[in-house]
Formats: sequence, C-alpha cells, structure tokens
Amino acid sequence: MHPDVPVCSLCTEPAVVYQRSLNLHLCGTHFTADVEQRVADTIKTRQMIVPHDRVAVALSGGKDSTALLLLLHHLLPLWEDVRLIAITIDEGITGYREETIQSAEQLTSWLGIEHHCMSFSSLFGNSLDTFLKGRETQACSICGIMRKKVLVVGAQQARATKLATGHNLDDEAQSVLMNVLRGDLPRLVRNSSRESSGKFIPRIKPLSRISEKDIATYLMLKDAWSELPECPYTRYAVRLEVRTMLSGFEYKHPGTMLHLLESKEKIERIGKDSVISEPLRSCPECGDPCSGDLCQMCLLRQLLDR
Ligand SMILES: [Zn+2]
Ligand SMILES: [Zn+2]
Repeated sequence: MHPDVPVCSLCTEPAVVYQRSLNLHLCGTHFTADVEQRVADTIKTRQMIVPHDRVAVALSGGKDSTALLLLLHHLLPLWEDVRLIAITIDEGITGYREETIQSAEQLTSWLGIEHHCMSFSSLFGNSLDTFLKGRETQACSICGIMRKKVLVVGAQQARATKLATGHNLDDEAQSVLMNVLRGDLPRLVRNSSRESSGKFIPRIKPLSRISEKDIATYLMLKDAWSELPECPYTRYAVRLEVRTMLSGFEYKHPGTMLHLLESKEKIERIGKDSVISEPLRSCPECGDPCSGDLCQMCLLRQLLDR
C-alpha cells in the first residue's frame, strides 16, 4: 500500500472516510457498520420503533429515503414482528419524478417490500406544477404541506403505526437554525414523534443523526448510489442560504450540526410541559393534527381556492 494512504483506525484496511468530528479514519466495512450502529442507537434511544410496529416509509426514490429503506431493512432483525411498507408520492413535477419513481419501484421489489404509489392528482385533483403557477417562490412550503397530507393518508390506508421519513442531520440542523432565526419557539420544541396520544400516527426520523455526506458515502459503498435529478423548485428555497452557511460552519467547526440538533432536543425536554409547547388538536375540518385553528392543509386549500 502507498505510505500516504491512511489506514482504518480500527483495522488494517485502507480508509475510505475521515470522520472529522471523531478524528477517525474508517475503512468501508467499519464506516458502514458505524452508520448502521448510529441509526440503531437513534431508534433505540428515542423508542422510534417497538415490537409489532407497521412502519410506513416515505420513499421518494432519492438518496435519503433510499438509504432509510436500506438501513431499516437491514436493521429489521433487531425488532420483533416489525413490518415495512413503502409509500411513494407523485407530486406531478415534470421531468423530475419519473426517474425517482422508477428507482423506488426497483428498490422495493428487490427488497421485497410492499409499495404504495400515491399522486397529488388523485388526492387533490391536480398536479403540483398546476398548483404552483405564479406561486413558485412558495413551492417548498406548499409542496411540503401537501406531501405531509398525502403521507398521512397513505400511512392510514396502509394501517401503519409509524411514519418514517428520510430527514438527515443537515435537514434537522437547518430546521433548528431556521426556527431560531424566525423566532418560532413553538415549532422548535414540537416533537412529532411524541406528540401522538394514540390519535395520530407518530412520525419518526431515524436518519436525524446521519449527515448528508455520510448518507452519500453509505449509498456508494452499498452500490446503491445513482445520480438523480434535483427537484427543480429547490432554487427558490430560503433554506438554501441556511444550508450554505451551515456547511461552511460544519467544515470549519466539525460537529456544529450535531450540536444544533442536541440543543433542540434539550430545549424540547425542558419545553415539553411548558406553555411554549402548544398541545396538538384535531383540525375541525379534516381531523388531522393541527396547532392553530385549522391544519396547514385546510388553510392551504382556502388559499389555493381563491
Ligand atoms: Zn476498518
Ligand atoms: Zn384540516
């Protein structure tokens, strides 16, 4: 081996990754095992999955959700009688969704996982492209609200007891920072996995401690990497600015994103029973969880009908 090639800190194999925050060089095998262990730990500490759960996995066919399904499938033997069901949403975004839906279909049939496809058109009567005409700058928040609604309906139809999404550490850290920048304390302390009182299907984010970069590396090592098109609406997102800023910080100060997530979790524990954390109610229109007078989807319906 070339003397300059770093060796895995845990064995004698050549390293493929340097984990800056841990100061460890890791080979492919040890890196993969580390990711799997971190996901298993996150699920265990936050009791995301319990025996007999039916876990609906939101599978867009993109990187995060592909990694999520692979990881949950790999970890299944850890839990007694747990089943996975994949749900894919077709928002109706021309030139973007076709490929990712195909990749979702291939993955689920390869893993032998039940797969449900649901479209915006069938639920809302139109594609996202149609809804967004003249509202492109609000694309991500409108789409986000509608996707959430479709996922809840899909999870209910599949009789799921948990709804898992592929949000990664970058997403979570960005959300924490955005809520702080907006001064939105209630949203900062809201914990969607615990807020269910048996009434709503709890949402879980098993990849919340895995960075976007680690997910990409994991997929490459698992031979599941593919270059998929980016959603054409992301260029409108404000999140992009926060993302750029945070990745600069993470590079200079490794561990920044994890620290942000941990601060949120600490505040969440303190805010749990305080007035900051508004209790979730059922939307009077549709019965979905909501914190205001109407749920976000019903508010959006009113806006789109105008
Ligand atoms: Zn190793
Ligand atoms: Zn509603």
